[in-house]
Amino acid sequence: MSGSYRKAKHQAAGHDGNFTDEGESLFFKPTTAQEVEFYQDIQRRYTDSTSEDLKLDAWMPVFLGTLELGVTGRARESDDSEVQSAITAHANLTQVEPELVPPNKPIIVLENLLRGYRTPNILDVKLGKTLHDEFASEDKKLRLRKVSQETTSGSLGLRICGMKIQESAAASTLDDCTYARESDGYISINKFYGRELNVNNVKDGFKLFFDSNSLSCDRRKALTETFLQRIQLLYNTLLEEEVRMISASLLLVYEADSDRWDELQDEDTLLRTDFFQDFSDDEEEEEPTAPLSSLSLIDFAHSKVTKGQGYDENVICGVESLIDIFDEMRLPSN
Ligand code: ADP
Ligand code: MN
Repeated sequence: MSGSYRKAKHQAAGHDGNFTDEGESLFFKPTTAQEVEFYQDIQRRYTDSTSEDLKLDAWMPVFLGTLELGVTGRARESDDSEVQSAITAHANLTQVEPELVPPNKPIIVLENLLRGYRTPNILDVKLGKTLHDEFASEDKKLRLRKVSQETTSGSLGLRICGMKIQESAAASTLDDCTYARESDGYISINKFYGRELNVNNVKDGFKLFFDSNSLSCDRRKALTETFLQRIQLLYNTLLEEEVRMISASLLLVYEADSDRWDELQDEDTLLRTDFFQDFSDDEEEEEPTAPLSSLSLIDFAHSKVTKGQGYDENVICGVESLIDIFDEMRLPSN
């Protein structure tokens, strides 16, 4: 296989079959026309926005374009030669090695949210009580209603879908069928873990995620505080947005390599740094600058812009629950 187009290293949940480039700056995801359209709609809406408010796109990975049937995607800023050439290279590769690419699916080219991390720990939390949209088949509706009813999706409007974490003390308490130890030293927590959680113990799932052996107690505390701030900011953003994001997820990422915390002197940023800035600087950029943690919205295969229809209650309800959970985690007993 060519060195530059390969499977993405880490996924917390979802389907396999996503790719990354050599520098691991980009994330290629085969997806539906609906997800392409949602990214395009959001991008179009905010391209010329001068508002200081945090809009939805601040929480989404940067969208660079699509690869369709070997056609080169379009970079948001055409003078971004590095980004442009990466995309062209991958478009070519999809022609040379089509077996790597599922047929008949557009591939979206996104900012890789793990870019710049050395040892990312990743958590995928699906939002919403309702998990299906009007396009789902009757079978699928039934199945997804049942999943919602039997899990914290139904009770809290959120569900832990999966994690990839480094070794942690809490991992020894896990049920065998809920996790696997990977050869790269990671523990993969599968979807059955989150399905077993309930209103009373869902907090344990988040504690497990932050319970990294490699970070000090202070650093883990700082992380939960920072995420709580982000979730509150996201909540304010969502109140202003008229969208419906069925089965979208929040992706939580943090650095579990304590050396990088030392290097950055524990300095984190609430929002991800500007993706394009990293490319426009020096030619020989060493490691891209990444924060020590980030919160993003992902997975818009069933999302749409719904102008005039008010905020997305289904998603907001999950975010409210998340605020409560992170609030509780700060209590001394936790
Ligand atoms: P699906 O659930 O339809 O397979 P998602 O968009 O939820 O697709 O992606 C699946 C997984 O891939 C996520 O849980 C996350 O770990 C990873 N992922 C998704 N988007 C990105 C991105 N832009 N950068 C890095 N990782 C991503
Ligand atoms: Mn998903």
